[in-house]
Amino acid sequence: MKLFTYQRAADAAGAIAAGGTYLAGGTTLLDLLKLEVLSADRVVDIARLDMKTISADERELRLGALASNSAVARHPEVQQRCPGLAQAILSGASPQIRNVASIGGNLLQRTRCAYYRDLATRCNKRAPGSGCDAMHGWTRMHALLGTSDKCIAAHPSDMCVMLAALDARVCTEGPRGPREFPIGELHLLPGEHPEREFSLALNELITQVRVPLGPLARSARYVKCRDRQSYAFALASCAAALELRGGRIAAARIALGGVATRPWRAPAAEQSLVGFAPDQELFRKAAAIALLGAQPRGGNAFKIELAKRCVSRALLTSAEAA
Ligand code: SF4
Repeated sequence: MKLFTYQRAADAAGAIAAGGTYLAGGTTLLDLLKLEVLSADRVVDIARLDMKTISADERELRLGALASNSAVARHPEVQQRCPGLAQAILSGASPQIRNVASIGGNLLQRTRCAYYRDLATRCNKRAPGSGCDAMHGWTRMHALLGTSDKCIAAHPSDMCVMLAALDARVCTEGPRGPREFPIGELHLLPGEHPEREFSLALNELITQVRVPLGPLARSARYVKCRDRQSYAFALASCAAALELRGGRIAAARIALGGVATRPWRAPAAEQSLVGFAPDQELFRKAAAIALLGAQPRGGNAFKIELAKRCVSRALLTSAEAA
């Protein structure tokens, strides 16, 4: 591991002024620093900052960026009013990791592409312009949607997929002051520059996530397919939420995980459901629409059908909840 300066921040302003690589739970960063996939001149420890509060009012849930994944998943307001979020969080990692991993860190989780973590291989995300050995390599875990000819790495988070479905908003503080934006604007497509993964400015610090509450949050459900029942990343997953009025679908949300380079909303599939009564065949058609444009590469073609089934299942369980 390369040497770096370690500094503990007393407050958000101090962290931003110090500048550097922020350390919260460390469940991604420390691995990558040890592997020398990432390097940092200065690591600013923000773990003790006062950003752990979880609260809710009639309209929304507010998650402090340093609240642990476990604390959010077991919070009564989350379990009662946004159970799909607890479901998504609990489907990720292990209890030990969830106990220290923060909400902000989960938002900024790095890809699990095996080539990215192996310094003996070529990776445009780790070393821009070097090439991508995944393209003609082992692609079982790689993406089908949102890829480019520079990178096909899948986004790894479960929580972010649910937050995308629920139209969550990300709050930050930075050298230019506070700002708030939809989570859909946080994760970047790889395009020509897979090394740029997030829309955050230099030294910008995530402080809070706001999740709208209501019928969609209550009915949201998460379905995840993986190689093991626990401690495994998604081969395919889906967060779905439905609002029913008079027996018909008034609003629908669908987001895919495991198959795309970022949490992948499927607006055309959502729209195809509106106005109809919930029905398995309708859900199957929506699932097919959600996967339109999927581009398999090598050994990941099976994920198209798997993802469709995740979408159908998630819609079905959400309809039952709604
Ligand atoms: Fe690197 Fe992306 Fe290629 Fe994986 S898929 S090796 S992260 S460029």
